[in-house]
Amino acid sequence: MDFDLSKDQLDIKKAAREFAEGEFPEVAEMCDREEKYPKELVRKAAELGFVGISLPEEYGGSGYGYLEKCLVNEELWRVDPGLGSAVTAATFGADMILLYGNNEQKRKYIPPLVKGDAVMGSAITEPNAGSDVSSIASAAVKAGNEFVINGTKMFITNGTVGSYFAVICLTQPENPSRHRRHSVILVERDRQGFEATKIHNKMGIRASDTAELYFRDVRVPLDHLIGEEGKGFYQFMEFFNRTRIHVGAQGIGIAQGAMDLAIKHARSREQFGKPLSSFQAIQFKIAEMATRIQAARNLVHEAACRADKGKPDHKLTAMAKWYAGETAVRSADEALQIHGGYGFIGEYAIQRFYRDAKIIEIYEGTKEIEKIIISRALLG
Ligand SMILES: Cc1cc2nc3c(=O)[nH]c(=O)nc-3n(C[C@H](O)[C@H](O)[C@H](O)COP(=O)(O)OP(=O)(O)OC[C@H]3O[C@@H](n4cnc5c(N)ncnc54)[C@H](O)[C@@H]3O)c2cc1C
Repeated sequence: MDFDLSKDQLDIKKAAREFAEGEFPEVAEMCDREEKYPKELVRKAAELGFVGISLPEEYGGSGYGYLEKCLVNEELWRVDPGLGSAVTAATFGADMILLYGNNEQKRKYIPPLVKGDAVMGSAITEPNAGSDVSSIASAAVKAGNEFVINGTKMFITNGTVGSYFAVICLTQPENPSRHRRHSVILVERDRQGFEATKIHNKMGIRASDTAELYFRDVRVPLDHLIGEEGKGFYQFMEFFNRTRIHVGAQGIGIAQGAMDLAIKHARSREQFGKPLSSFQAIQFKIAEMATRIQAARNLVHEAACRADKGKPDHKLTAMAKWYAGETAVRSADEALQIHGGYGFIGEYAIQRFYRDAKIIEIYEGTKEIEKIIISRALLG
């Protein structure tokens, strides 16, 4: 077992860190305050190869794997989770095309993502179907050589900025199995009847675009089906089995960034004539944070390595995502505590980390859903 990153991986980590440290600080607070999606930053990140890091070389990507994408996620989220989110979610849905799309779909839809000419989203959640993906009701009905889609999708990342979406729709409502009723269909935003409304006032990751999507008699050709009819539920479970590893890496980034801020503050702030870092209560908080971060990182990296070997392990992925989420939330909480009253006011970056951390325990499967996956794998 080798725990050391290769030279290439260390270089990727360093480059991502330098990019974030060079570009993020100037706009982070403004994008958070104004809920501004950093379009130019995403394009720049694409030009530098961070967006397409794990996409195959034959479609213009860098051809690295899940682990390298995790390293980029970690470093960008460490500097600012909101901006990290905007950049690293720009390809959210590419894995669906790579796993289940045909060659033509891959050739058409992957290269624009790599170049930063397009941003993608995945539309699963609905107003009445969140954790229970099998109850999705947005319907796609065949009419001649087209699907006609009607329905509403909720909380969709990149909803108002994305060029196309992998949308899960009900296509086989009569199938007796709840898990064999859905299909994944690619929908471009310029299709008639498609509308996206930005959701405002999110608690965190406010630089990331989140929207409600409406499909009103949206017509797309039948060749926009991704994968197999009736297999959409299973396709998305396999998809999440991989993308949740990246969410775990986002959590590590937040936790690490929060700890970095806490250490800096604890060293510079003095009380009772001494730096905060000299008090054992503060030292123990840092020690606990660092240990949890290391444990979360080991889980996430192992899950990524297994996925890179072509054997993603859904129990391990769920463990990694849940634990990294909890680590992010706890670390941000303790790091803010170390800042005292200064942590509670807007001028200090730690406040953003505290608000941003919570999303890791919610999207792409809540922490409760991850625990259901883990316990089912153990108990049946
Ligand atoms: C900022 C943001 C971005 C998002 N991006 C996307 C996106 O790009 N695409 C997309 O499709 N969705 C996206 N989502 C939606 C997200 O994935 C869902 O919010 C999440 O899956 C939970 O669904 P829900 O909100 O409907 O909560 P619910 O499913 O209603 O759950 C509410 C609570 O009940 C718990 N619960 C539910 N069922 C069970 C059970 N069986 N046992 C125990 N507890 C249970 C949950 O864990 C949770 O704590 C995003 C959400 C946010 C906030």
